Amino acid sequence: MSPTDVVVVGAGPVGLFLAAELRTGGARVVVLERLTAPSGESRASVLHARTMEIFADRGFLPRLGELPAVGPGHFGGLRLDLTEADPDHPYAGQWECLQHHLETELETYAAGLGAQVRRGHTLTGLRETDAGVRVEVRGPDDATYALSARYVVGCDGEHSTVRSLGGFDFAGHDADKVMLRADVAGIEIGNRRLERFADGIATAYRRPDGTTRLMVHRFGEQPAGEPAFAQVADAWAAVTGEDIRHGEPRWLNRFGTVSRQVTEYRRGRLLLAGDAAHSQMPVGGQAVNLGLQDAAALGPRLARVVTGAAGPGLLDDYHAERHPVGSRTLANIQAQAHLLFGADEVTALRGVFGELLELGSARRHLARMISGLDAPQPPRPSLRPGPSHTHQPGRSTVDRLTDKTALVTGSSRGIGRATAIRLAREGALVAVHYTANEQAAAETVELIEKEGGSAFTVRAELGVPGDVHELFLGLERGLKERTGDTRLDILVNNAAVTSTGSAPEDLTPEEFDRSFAVNAKAPYFIVQRALGQMPSGGRIVNLTTGVTRTSVPDQVAYAMTKGAVEQLTFQLARILAPRGITINSVAPGITDNGGAIFDNPQAVEAMARFSAFNRVGEAGDVADVITFLTTDEARWITGAFIDATGGTLLG
Ligand code: NAP
Repeated sequence: MSPTDVVVVGAGPVGLFLAAELRTGGARVVVLERLTAPSGESRASVLHARTMEIFADRGFLPRLGELPAVGPGHFGGLRLDLTEADPDHPYAGQWECLQHHLETELETYAAGLGAQVRRGHTLTGLRETDAGVRVEVRGPDDATYALSARYVVGCDGEHSTVRSLGGFDFAGHDADKVMLRADVAGIEIGNRRLERFADGIATAYRRPDGTTRLMVHRFGEQPAGEPAFAQVADAWAAVTGEDIRHGEPRWLNRFGTVSRQVTEYRRGRLLLAGDAAHSQMPVGGQAVNLGLQDAAALGPRLARVVTGAAGPGLLDDYHAERHPVGSRTLANIQAQAHLLFGADEVTALRGVFGELLELGSARRHLARMISGLDAPQPPRPSLRPGPSHTHQPGRSTVDRLTDKTALVTGSSRGIGRATAIRLAREGALVAVHYTANEQAAAETVELIEKEGGSAFTVRAELGVPGDVHELFLGLERGLKERTGDTRLDILVNNAAVTSTGSAPEDLTPEEFDRSFAVNAKAPYFIVQRALGQMPSGGRIVNLTTGVTRTSVPDQVAYAMTKGAVEQLTFQLARILAPRGITINSVAPGITDNGGAIFDNPQAVEAMARFSAFNRVGEAGDVADVITFLTTDEARWITGAFIDATGGTLLG
């Protein structure tokens, strides 16, 4: 059982944002998600002023790109302009951001901050112990494992497993009125928003991709079960008189007037946020905004508790603050449901309500409520409070790689060893790869463990048939034993043969092939294999050499292999960027790798002259550069050739 501070269940927008907030506050986080990939659906699509303000405050908003302002908004189908909430607020109004886009960006953001998002992992059991919670999980290959966490937060939606396993009381009622929803291609009908007809209500709007999103509610009898397209088309025809049966449904869904809320947001070490804590009709985007604001209210507090900056009592403030906000939102949504779904019996009520909405103060009141601006402002996460509870004596760490896993090829010695040590100092679990020198590899692990880090050795000879397979067998076994998973966040392709030992005119085809097999072919296929288990936020660093930028004819074959590695970096960067993965080349100059020549003072003096700093590089000089490239701080660098030669290439 590997311990973590917080297990978040559910990688929807709420769980992912909570994970990011927790990481910002210095907590270690594992996110478990049943789905192996984001659903791609975009149920929710608008962000409100309070959410925008929180995202801007955390520096996350620019990652979403330009968000278009949308429509005036409504209250139970009656026009309500949300910009009236506060004309001076920079984000007053509502902003279009499809859930799919939001989830993708949040996942990259959270992973970049060090959250570990495990997709295809289903929560199966929870048991509170004296020290925390034992979390039972079924992984993608059906193997079960356990995690121990200090707290577990259910962000797992309306049908929350955490809520049911935790015995929370989910008070309220189920839906008694239903709206059918569909994205349909191949139909031509006019846009309309919650238009009232004698027999029901209908909404239609054309999306940029040419499909039309429809919503239809028929007064009276309510459909049960999952909707079929024929049912939607029948309801549409009955309400509007229009025939859409020839259309091609792309997505079908139903939602209704459910209104439930847990009576406690916290039970001991279990907490709930988002739809797991409150289920409501998704009207005007309030559900996702309410959930994201729950996460903002909980994350900084929980981070303070698990890092020892505050006692667990702080978590009761979360319930005290968010339960009333949730109740009030559920109440406004129920009021809207009456105004929307009532037939003739609500005509008078709608009339009076419409008159009230003529008053600026009434509009402002409701717009502030929907925008989340009348709720308390959430606390801000204190940035990585120190000393972190993960701090170990002798570790000068800022934990930028907590919960990350890394493979450094050729880390038994030299630059690879220095890199493995630094990655572990930052919190990564490191696989120390070697081929011949088992003792040196074991020493690297020992050095890491002495500093309080975690590492294990993996042996595989590169440049021979079956090399990558053997490497990944050992790597996956080591990762699985320690994390329950084979996910790899960081790959450093460092192992290489630096010299063939032959002058260019004497180089044999065998020596040439061997150089290419170890230095170029192996890194290519290691990258290819690693990508199958590398999540968004992943990092690849390939070691090259300054010799590709200056003529050293004695090393022509070596330089050719490293030229190939630079192309691997440059060419793959474009296809990896959409996955949130960066790939870069780092070129050392002459670097003391502990080889015999560095014991010879005359030779060292001569080599030092190549660098603008008049010394040879230390392995740590290069390892620091590699380590930086693996952090979130280097997220904007990809496909680059990084000169780490100490100015050797300045000429
Ligand atoms: P090093 O001290 O020579 O160490 C090489 C590492 O690679 C060792 O861990 C070794 O494992 C492993 N290795 C070598 N051949 C292998 C094979 N066929 N299969 C599996 N593992 C193998 O290396 P370094 O000098 O630190 O260099 C690291 C990287 O920086 C290399 O890519 C190199 O090209 C580049 N670089 C170094 C310098 C420099 O001056 N040091 C300059 C420019 C670029 P064992 O210990 O088990 O043998």
